[in-house]
Order: sequence, then structure tokens, then C-alpha cells
Amino acid sequence: EKIFLNGELISSHEATISVFDRGFLFGDGIYEVMVQLENGLFYKDAHWERLQRNLDKIGIAYDVTEMEAQLDPLLVSSNLTNKPCLIYMQVTRGVAPRKHAFPKDVPPTVMMYALPYTLPHINSKSSHAILRSDNRWLRCDIKSISLLGNVMANERAMEENADEAVLVRDGFITEGSHTNIFFVKSGKVYTHPANQLILDGITRKIVLKLCEDLDIPMMEKAIGVDEIDDMDEAFLTGTTTQIASIAKLGDHIYHTPDAIGPITKKLQQAFADLKNLEPSK
Ligand code: PMP
Repeated sequence: EKIFLNGELISSHEATISVFDRGFLFGDGIYEVMVQLENGLFYKDAHWERLQRNLDKIGIAYDVTEMEAQLDPLLVSSNLTNKPCLIYMQVTRGVAPRKHAFPKDVPPTVMMYALPYTLPHINSKSSHAILRSDNRWLRCDIKSISLLGNVMANERAMEENADEAVLVRDGFITEGSHTNIFFVKSGKVYTHPANQLILDGITRKIVLKLCEDLDIPMMEKAIGVDEIDDMDEAFLTGTTTQIASIAKLGDHIYHTPDAIGPITKKLQQAFADLKNLEPSK
């Protein structure tokens, strides 16, 4: 198993990082996750662009095209060429004595690996999500490796035998711990606007585009916790989650395990078709 680390492909047990890495000390870095299907990398351009945009946002000077050029060699050496797999990429602000301010002239730490991974059938499972207060910072648009708020919320979901924690800030639903959330009411689809309170998920964007293509009315508007009961359907989206219907959110039951709502089902079908058609891009 090979890891791409700072320009080299090395075996995983040789891939080590300094304890003075700012990713380790401060959580000062950005990450990205994408999947490769049998027919190619799913929306790879969107993932590389988001990684570059996020690095630019936090002032890490790194050109992701260098990493992009190393993906094929990584897949070859990991024996994953044209095989379903998950690719994790991370760039931190590099190794420097522990001071908060950015170090000068320090190269970033750049790491990427690929693991065998097959996406489950899209509607194989409906989700149970708990509600938690959104205790994260106010720049959730940044795909930061500092995920304490997310992991603590998700851990609570696991403790309660749920699948996801859906976060609530100031009475409004923002997103899941590692997913975006959508609602359906009277045939219209709602999701939180892509501002600084959520991560603008690539799957979220794909779903909004599918709504447009399928003539499903859509609006980017935050839904209040007090509106959960009034909604007809709810679903989660994410790179590995795809589109997962929510059977139960907090105390509210949307459907029994198999009775996925019609709009969610339609979008799941369209998403599955997209995966079959999607050329490598
Ligand atoms: N929100 C958060 C907080 C996430 O961590 C993720 C997964 N990266 C998402 C939403 C979904 O984003 P994407 O569809 O790009 O995987």
C-alpha cells in the first residue's frame, strides 16, 4: 500500500510526518475525498477545484495540479487503476516551531492515498439522524481538517445507534456531521444556502442540478427545527453517502424503512443513472 507524501510514493509504514507538522499541532490544513467508480473518477474536476479553492482561502500556497499529476502513479502502485476506490487528499501548512502565526517559506505537507472502496447501492439503506446543536466555528465552508465539532456530533449519533447527526444553529438546520441535508415539502426541494455555515458539498450541487434537469422546483433556504414535522421527505447527500433517505429525524418519522418518498426516490434514480453514465472528468 502506497502513500503519496511530499512528492514521493512510499509505502504506508514508511510514510511518517513530523510532530511539528501544523496539521498535527493546530489542525491547520485542508482535506478532500473523492471516489473512483469503474468508469472513472466521479466529478474529479469539482474535487480538485474545491481543494484548490480551500487552500487559497486559508493562504496555503500550493498548486494542486502537482498532486493531480501524481494520482495515476499512486493508483498504479496501489493496484487500483480503474478499480472502485476512495481517494483521500490532505495538505497542511507544513512543519515549523509551534507559533500560531503562519511560518515563512515553509513547504506544505502534501499527502494522498487510495483505498479499495465500493459505493453501496444508492437506496440500500435509509437513515436515522439525531439532532445536535451545531457547535462548530463560523467558517464551515472551509473543508478544514479540524473536525472536532463534526466528530463529537457524529460520535453521539453512533452512541444512539443512529447514522448521522444533523446540526442545528440558531433554530435552523445547517447540515449533517459529514453530509448536507435536503427537505421536500409539497413537491419542492429545500436545502441550506451555500454560505459560511455549511460545506458546499459536491453531491449537494449535483442534486440541485438534477432538480433543474428533472423540473423539480428547488430553493436554497434554511429549514427551521420547528418545520421538521411539516416536511414530507428528507435526505442526506455526500460523496460516500450519495443520496440517503432519512426515515427518522429527531423524533419525527418520515417513513417506514422501505417506503422512501417519491422525490427522494426520483433523485436517487437520476443519481444512479449519472454514476453509470458519468465519463471520467
Ligand atoms: N458537509 C460536511 C460537513 C462534510 O464533511 C461533507 C463531506 N465532505 C459534506 C457536507 C458533503 O460534501 P460532498 O458531497 O462534497 O462529499
